[in-house]
Amino acid sequence: MLIPCSENCIYQEEGLCNLTEVTSSSNSPLKECPYFVDKSKEREKDKMEKE
Ligand code: SF4
Repeated sequence: MLIPCSENCIYQEEGLCNLTEVTSSSNSPLKECPYFVDKSKEREKDKMEKE
């Protein structure tokens, strides 16, 4: 089961969470989600590693 999520998270795709494990840990997949990883931060990190 996929859960809807609109966070700017690397696991979020087209409004759905692609990390299925998360469904068992919480009903409110927002910032409190233990798996939340900021997409833009990841991108920054990636950029920094390349430069
Ligand atoms: S891991 Fe958490 S924050 Fe990220 S898309 Fe899934 S439910 Fe949302």
